[in-house]
Amino acid sequence: MQFPQLDRIKSNHPRLRPLLEALETYIGHEVEDGRTRIVPALAANSLRKSEAETLALLMLFEDGGVLTHEYDIVCKRTGAVLKTVADKSELQDALPVPCQFCDQEHGADDIRTELVFEVKPAAVQAFRQHAFA
Ligand SMILES: [Zn+2]
Repeated sequence: MQFPQLDRIKSNHPRLRPLLEALETYIGHEVEDGRTRIVPALAANSLRKSEAETLALLMLFEDGGVLTHEYDIVCKRTGAVLKTVADKSELQDALPVPCQFCDQEHGADDIRTELVFEVKPAAVQAFRQHAFA
């Protein structure tokens, strides 16, 4: 048990328990290394699962209060993250977004969005307390 917030999720989904624990371990390692940003593709790689399956697990972690999702606005040409918004509905308001790498403003055609997850500060704190208890 690394994130006590997940206890309820685990007992609600007994079949998923091994996968939830594998993801919990992965996120625990990231937090230990000082990274609180969880990229679905990288987590999927580590679990050897499809990104869709991993996304479903990450959403359960969000339900449990461990993660929160956000969207990166990424410059298509350079791959640079230009801005992060909490919800897709905020996307339209964020555009056009200035890109210092291309030295211009980008509209919807010049950017792509990437769903990422952030470990909540309270979850990081609970993890640290547990790890060093
Ligand atoms: Zn750009």
